[in-house]
Amino acid sequence: MAFLLMHGQKGEHLNYSLTLPSDKIKLRVWCRLANGKWELGIIVSNSGEEFVVSLLSGNIFRVSTGELLPANPDILRCADDLLQLSYLNEPSVIYNLQYRYSRDIIYSKAGPVLIAVNPFKKMQIYEDNLVQAYKQKIVDSPHVYAVANTAYTEMMRDGVSQSIIISGESGAGKTETARFAMHYLASIGGGSSAGIESNILRTSSILEAFGNAKTSRNDNSSRFVSAIYLCHFSRVVQVAQGERSYHIFYQLCAGAPSYLREKLNLRHADEYYYLKQSNCLLIAGVDDAERFQMLLEALDIVRIPKDYQENAFELLAAILWLGNISFHTGDIENHVEVVVDEAVTTVARLLGCTAEDLVVALSARKIRVGKDHITKTLTLQQAFDVRDALAKFLYASLFDWVVEQINISLEVGKESAGRSINILDICGFESFQRNSFEQFCINYANERLQQHFHRHLFKLEQEEYEIDGIDWTKVDFEDNQDCLNLIEKRPLGILSLLEEESKFPKASDLTFSNKVKQHLNNNPCFRGDTDVAFTIRHYAGEVSYDSTSFLQKNRDLVHVDSIQLLSSCSCQLPKLFAARTDDHSLGLSNPNHSGGGLDFQKQSVATKFKGQLFKLMHQLENTKPHFIWCIRPNEKQLPCHYEEDLVLRQLRCCAVIEVVRISRSGYPSRMTHQEFAGRYGYMLFDSVSISKDPLSISVALLHQFNVPREMYQVGYVKIYLRMGQVAMLESRRKQAL
Ligand code: ADP
Ligand code: MG
Repeated sequence: MAFLLMHGQKGEHLNYSLTLPSDKIKLRVWCRLANGKWELGIIVSNSGEEFVVSLLSGNIFRVSTGELLPANPDILRCADDLLQLSYLNEPSVIYNLQYRYSRDIIYSKAGPVLIAVNPFKKMQIYEDNLVQAYKQKIVDSPHVYAVANTAYTEMMRDGVSQSIIISGESGAGKTETARFAMHYLASIGGGSSAGIESNILRTSSILEAFGNAKTSRNDNSSRFVSAIYLCHFSRVVQVAQGERSYHIFYQLCAGAPSYLREKLNLRHADEYYYLKQSNCLLIAGVDDAERFQMLLEALDIVRIPKDYQENAFELLAAILWLGNISFHTGDIENHVEVVVDEAVTTVARLLGCTAEDLVVALSARKIRVGKDHITKTLTLQQAFDVRDALAKFLYASLFDWVVEQINISLEVGKESAGRSINILDICGFESFQRNSFEQFCINYANERLQQHFHRHLFKLEQEEYEIDGIDWTKVDFEDNQDCLNLIEKRPLGILSLLEEESKFPKASDLTFSNKVKQHLNNNPCFRGDTDVAFTIRHYAGEVSYDSTSFLQKNRDLVHVDSIQLLSSCSCQLPKLFAARTDDHSLGLSNPNHSGGGLDFQKQSVATKFKGQLFKLMHQLENTKPHFIWCIRPNEKQLPCHYEEDLVLRQLRCCAVIEVVRISRSGYPSRMTHQEFAGRYGYMLFDSVSISKDPLSISVALLHQFNVPREMYQVGYVKIYLRMGQVAMLESRRKQAL
């Protein structure tokens, strides 16, 4: 069944927006004030298009119909599913969620979707007795536990993998929600599987240390998606003011035991350029040293061997020391020399190479001229770029490696015969003052996920009705295929154009943006702006991107010389990482590849990202999805603050009203005529019918029980029932037995 909860309202609410009932006097209404806010009131009189409304605040207003929407009776103001609302409109939805939030009820349903409004305070709703209550179905009010329970029950019942897809803006509560879902599954798993489940919980803390950072919006923003790893890792070398790099660096600096500190020549975080550049080393209320201990435990539990763990820490320390390597320009203008100091010797020691080799790799590149190689000294800027690219490459490789280790470890204990519950914590749609390549990738991923959501909630549903020939008023919804085409289409989508430009050595931010504008300006989802900016019309709104450094971020070049350096290292991991680059090497085998520059080019970031995204979507297609939308009720991360505008914007992004609208105009219960006749046929008074075909029996049954015409549909194959009808039939059946 596609929908979990459904109500039997009739189709007439499809015109949910501006219709007021005919007898308007004394009607409760939402009245739009001059400031755009909606307030509750009662109509006291009307003449033609003009109404006099008495607001709850005591004011009397004279307004036109356009400023009024019908309000629900008080009895519905705390309805736990928006499907129950008699009048479905934006103020009613906003008010319902607000009313519940003000009573500390953070969970609600919008038909099949769970809405979670971030409380920003500790709630007493996650205790073990509640786990049990949801497991035994003693309570069924909306809760992340209820979603997790449904997923678990359906996995066990149908033998189908499930996914819990959690979306929302940064800071909306996705990671917390994912954690509670995991906690629930771990608790009810019991017996032998409990160990595995808690391993999954542990791994989430490892991935969090490596993949999360403190951003200006959220102290613990996920820069990764649980199942795909959409990291750009530019944060390793460049951190904005007031933000932090990945937690793991600070945890290591604060928590490493003394033998390890000595081995890694580890200092306090404020002695590393990569960490101190943003003037933010701590997170209020978070003890990095303590977190490091937890991380060590987690690494043990997922059975990453101690020597591997130390290898990983060596690499992390090497990355930090790399950032402290400095250069000075020598006698020849613009040509750099590496300052050979503690940073250089430490990096060399940690990687297992000689200081001389490191110095050469950071300050010169080999160029092939005819049959000979000549060495060309880098400029200062090039040297910094090479250094930072190496740091990012090491971190990205390390992250991949950690993920791989975790997967290997989890696979070992896997017992559930391929069935799984995937919990997806998705970095939500982002739109800032300035949006760059990272936002482009995140928003692209969200477009894909939005389409997945649409497919399930709208398309498949409607297609089934149409195929089965039932009378169905098609509910239109905004499809985002156009926007996906704009991004993905070959050869003239943004990704293809980016890829093409990235391979062209002389390309610049300007040539890229000109190319995009030249080819895409006629696309309705695209608008070329000034200079290097362009705007995309996403499903969730318009976003203007600044394409400065798109190319550079997409190329993410690591020099061949750096790779060669790593492959010569005596330490295990650097050598391993270098060896892996051979697999998809594009540039290494062909020295002339990038105009003699000898840059090593692995798969470009966007291409890799797209590949990972497709893989994820493919995985999702094979699971039964459950959706949770997290809402951030205020910007300041404060409890008990509900900003209507902010909430409304997020609800619009996920088209909540359309979802409720289609859910309740649908038929959640469906059975084949065979099944229906088989289950209820014996109750037919008219025994002659027994000889009839299942379809006729089904229809006769519906007549006998006076099921109203608008409550069912008869298809070729199946019978479709609105919410509540099966319950009625079942109770008759019980009486009859
Ligand atoms: P996201 O992953 O969406 O960026 P988080 O899950 O990290 O957001 O949540 C941000 C902060 O909001 C958390 O650190 C926590 O303080 C608070 N929070 C979120 N959900 C809850 C909840 N269910 N109960 C209590 N606090 C929460
Ligand atoms: Mg998160």
